[in-house]
Amino acid sequence: MTEEKRKLLEENVARVRLSMAEALRAAGCAEGSVLLCAASKTQDAATVRLAAGLDIDLFGENRVQELCEKSAAAAYGGKPLHFIGHLQTNKVKLVVGKAQLIESVGSEKLLRCVAAQAEKCSLFQDLLIEVNIGGEESKSGTAPAQLPALLETAHGLPSVRVRGLMAIPPAAAVPGASRPYFARMYALFEAAARQAGGNVSMEYLSMGMSGDFADAILEGANIVRVGTAIFGPRPPVTAK
Ligand SMILES: *Cc1c(COP(=O)(O)O)cnc(C)c1O
Repeated sequence: MTEEKRKLLEENVARVRLSMAEALRAAGCAEGSVLLCAASKTQDAATVRLAAGLDIDLFGENRVQELCEKSAAAAYGGKPLHFIGHLQTNKVKLVVGKAQLIESVGSEKLLRCVAAQAEKCSLFQDLLIEVNIGGEESKSGTAPAQLPALLETAHGLPSVRVRGLMAIPPAAAVPGASRPYFARMYALFEAAARQAGGNVSMEYLSMGMSGDFADAILEGANIVRVGTAIFGPRPPVTAK
């Protein structure tokens, strides 16, 4: 059973890698210049452990409790771990120092909270600023217009290191619908690079999921977060 499952995951990862390579070729970029993040929400520790042995670069978790449980079970097999979900300030202490990168810092309040916790633990916390590129009420992330001010704030918080930007565009109704959002993110990423210096750099642009990672790569993503295309369909989301 486990061997069967491992094979299935391996085939899925190979398929994703092939599509990534095609997109990279089309974009004129070197193979291997995009990191594959396996979005492992709802996947149990045994499944994550299997995936850790495959050709993925890192894991992304959405929920603090899952991150803690799977970390404790040593499920990530030494691969880097990113936090990619909505982070409440009261759970920041559980994630700082445990996730190599917190991809989803989208407000000044959360940024300051992460910085305070990192300082308390005497460590530097790497993070990405999440941008609400579709301007959706339901999504977290900073408005594009607020990004310069947020980066300015980050300059004054030496316990955090801003490494780039992350976005989740509106759910695409038709294939290709995310692409203009990805293009806008890349323009923001380039503009934000002008504010780089000290503890702020623009190295990572995390965007693209199972349905649209090829489009994201064509528009300049260098981290894609892929769940369903690796692990298969997830059970419906349950209330927290
Ligand atoms: C679940 C999730 C993904 C992966 O979504 P799929 O469509 O399953 O590939 C990527 N990013 C975030 C933030 C997620 O929550």
